[in-house]
Amino acid sequence: MQKPNETVAAHATLPVKAGLPDEPHIDLSVSPADEIKTTTCYMCACRCGIKVYLKNGKVRYIEGNRDHPVNKGVLCGKGSAGIMHHYAPSRLSNPLRRVGERGSGEFEEISWEEALGLATEWLGEVRQRDPKKLAFFTGRDQSQSLTGWWAMQYGTPNFAAHGGFCSVNMAAGGLYTFGGSFWEFGEPDWEHTKYFLLFGVAEDHGSNPIKIALGKLKGRGAKVVSINPVRTGYNAIADEWLGIKPGTDGLLVGALIHEMLRTENVDLDYLVRYTNAPFLVIHDPGAADDGLFARDGEGKPLVWDKKSNTLAAASRVDVAPALVGEFTLADGRKARPVFRLIAERYLGNDYWPDTVAKETGVPADTIRRIAAEIADVAFKQTVTLPIKWTDWAGREHDSITGRPVSMHAMRGISAHSNGFHTCRLIHILQILLGTIDVPGGFRYKAPFPRPAPPPNKPVGKPSQIAPGKPMPGMHLGFVQGPEDLLMEADGTPTRIDKAYSWDAPIAAHGLMHMVITNAALEDPYPVDVLFLYMANMSWNSSMNIGATLGYLTAKNDDGSYKIPKIIYSDAYASEMVAYADLILPDTTYLERYDCISLLDRPISEADGPADAIRHPVVKPDRNVRGFQDVLIDLGSRLKLPGFTKEDGTPRYPGGYPDYIVNHERSPGLGPLAGWRGEDGKSFGVGKPNPKQLDEYIANGAFHIHHLEPGQRWMKHANKGYLEFAKASGFIGSTDPIIFQLYSEPLQKFRLAARGHGAIQPPASHKQRIERFFDPLPFWYPPFEGTMIDDRAFPMHAITQRPMHMYHSWGSQNAWLRQITAANRLFMSRTRAAALGIADDDWVWIASHIGRVKAQVRLMEGVNDDTVWTWNAIGKRGGAWALDKDAPEAKQGFLLNHLIAELLPPREGGYRYSNSDPVTGQAAWYDLRVSVSKAPPAEVHESWPQFETLASPPGVVAPGALAFGREFKGGRG
Ligand code: SF4
Repeated sequence: MQKPNETVAAHATLPVKAGLPDEPHIDLSVSPADEIKTTTCYMCACRCGIKVYLKNGKVRYIEGNRDHPVNKGVLCGKGSAGIMHHYAPSRLSNPLRRVGERGSGEFEEISWEEALGLATEWLGEVRQRDPKKLAFFTGRDQSQSLTGWWAMQYGTPNFAAHGGFCSVNMAAGGLYTFGGSFWEFGEPDWEHTKYFLLFGVAEDHGSNPIKIALGKLKGRGAKVVSINPVRTGYNAIADEWLGIKPGTDGLLVGALIHEMLRTENVDLDYLVRYTNAPFLVIHDPGAADDGLFARDGEGKPLVWDKKSNTLAAASRVDVAPALVGEFTLADGRKARPVFRLIAERYLGNDYWPDTVAKETGVPADTIRRIAAEIADVAFKQTVTLPIKWTDWAGREHDSITGRPVSMHAMRGISAHSNGFHTCRLIHILQILLGTIDVPGGFRYKAPFPRPAPPPNKPVGKPSQIAPGKPMPGMHLGFVQGPEDLLMEADGTPTRIDKAYSWDAPIAAHGLMHMVITNAALEDPYPVDVLFLYMANMSWNSSMNIGATLGYLTAKNDDGSYKIPKIIYSDAYASEMVAYADLILPDTTYLERYDCISLLDRPISEADGPADAIRHPVVKPDRNVRGFQDVLIDLGSRLKLPGFTKEDGTPRYPGGYPDYIVNHERSPGLGPLAGWRGEDGKSFGVGKPNPKQLDEYIANGAFHIHHLEPGQRWMKHANKGYLEFAKASGFIGSTDPIIFQLYSEPLQKFRLAARGHGAIQPPASHKQRIERFFDPLPFWYPPFEGTMIDDRAFPMHAITQRPMHMYHSWGSQNAWLRQITAANRLFMSRTRAAALGIADDDWVWIASHIGRVKAQVRLMEGVNDDTVWTWNAIGKRGGAWALDKDAPEAKQGFLLNHLIAELLPPREGGYRYSNSDPVTGQAAWYDLRVSVSKAPPAEVHESWPQFETLASPPGVVAPGALAFGREFKGGRG
């Protein structure tokens, strides 16, 4: 096998099969490359290992790295088309300064010294005056532990990445429930699961890994059930498809829970050992602690011990806790176990399958059958592995038994205004079945599990923000109650996106989708500098694009811009470039270092923590710099403490690789966990190792630490794992992680809404907080449908990513464009016939804020009330170095034009963002539309069409691309 980064002197001559007389002769003996380098793909979020074949210093071919834990050699179409991403004509080539009006696309090329000088001047002045007037937000950034730390050192509370419009509901819903989640946080036990439920659009967050896994399931005969309004992609190979109505998944899961409880298919022993099901909840309506856990004098939650008929600390292992009933506390008040409250909630009529069937569109008999199938697999087809392990209390076990039902969900569930509670419902179903971190169930990936919720709180209170000073901690954390919110004394949010305010109290990823609107409307305050990285906020990453463009160009009476300065870093001439004042051109992913860190979003496997790097496999041929290098340079120019030594010189003069190796977040804990220590022999914690990057490169650009077999399961309660995790810096204590079926932090918000505690919501927010901060998850209809005339907009409209593309990058790629260059509006044949619409017709799609025109494609396999399209294919004419009349611009379209970023005004006129009320997750998938046939005489072109963007200096739109010509003729 070829070793990573090996020079290919000459391939062994392969026997050449004699062709038939007319076949062209292919000489297989010729070496395809001078050199092969291993690195990490960035063509989507999966971070597969790749081998890049180089010939004469150019990228010739990319293949999957068979040794890599993520993809095991599999490479998807996007990954191999990375060549055309790297050589895209749209690559920016020089720093740029705006010289025309914002939006005109008129720039002049400037030197890096000028660009960095200008950025330092703008950023430095704001830092000394009022650091929160910098809003720094990043898009598909895979270096958030650096970008967040930079913002913390700068001292602005206004930092987040794109999670607020991606899948924060999934992350927060899981972290508040069981200290994990799907995707980077955990995954099904693909080796042993026998019944797999796939909820909603999930391809965005799981390409190769899920494809490989589904192959295993299908090969083994496991049942795959897809719950999705659209039957494409992974859903197309499901054994059973439930074409549910968008936004009703929580109701369906509630009905499955109903059936599990009704048929008594619940793992009670598991609930007693690992969850707060037996915790006693104070029942004292009107009291300041109503609904909180009853606790002993040391603050430990209490249970009722059936053996002694007394109250006892829940942490004791010698008790037999009651799960039902009502008990009297020492002060004479009543308390009830969480499990009783669960039974009362989900056995009620709201979650009866016959009630649920009408709203979800899934027949009651089907719900009952699916529930029975799940119960049968979970309780009659258990999987036992002969693995010795020791639990947190020191009890030794000879084996581990699992209930082999697993689930997966991501954006399709998350991107609704009821997503947080729906995600909690899915996890509660898993927990009631006893399927967390057991064979065949869900498995955590280190550094998860963490306590539910994790102990780090958000930072950005008024007292934590001061001119010229860093903030005392990282921005994004997990509130435990109203006292952790980030607000001024009068309730004004300290963050520009209103994260961690009454608008979105558990905004664990921020609300990037609200930054431009709020900044332009000066609500809650104006900003001076908007600094964006890799986020196409003037196009496919914003809702209500027309309004967003208006906000980006809005002026004050004196002619100055409402958002005075915009700095943007991107590698490509995206639609956002024209709306920035200063452009810092980034490299491609094959030209720079990156660190896929355990401090951030790693690539861990269930059997062990893993992290990875990218490193330059080719040198930039343009005047560009990796954004992370630029950020570190700016940090030292601004004299930010973390980026400057005591003598004022740069702390990381070698840029990002220097930082990756030498930065320590706490003593011994740095961006990379592998090969630490001066001798390179430590994992997790250890002194910086100057040869660390060499070790990663020699190992294929990744490191994986394989857990001992006895550490691999039940990680939330496994002594061996908890001790390992603490020693590795993942968690702060070896206490078991208790699953929070009932969420006490949510109840604390509810109590505040009821007039208790020092920090209470104003009257205008009270009803909303009371309703949505229910400590037990529940289903409610997505907001948009309840706030508009749903008879006028009877259809649901959703998007998904084509499996051959990823965000707007994919649809500029010369090879991938050949697969799809213009998206259609997909709808059911039945509904189209009823509306008089035929295949290929042009239609108007209208929402309550506007309309777009698109061409339809009729299909089977879509919920009758739902239309959908591929996201991010529609482009603005002239952007991305595409022809102004490219199909992406003239036939492609975006639904974003129809999605409001603000909900219609409530009583009193206040407009909440179009988001989940708990987390602030953008509710993209709540969109309601009507569809009508466009008059045949109308021009067959998508609408709206905006003025064509000029390519920035240095970017030339080619007539045609012909990659690889240079490799022809010369035999490679
Ligand atoms: S799945 Fe994503 S990361 Fe993996 S090869 Fe494909 S594009 Fe690259």
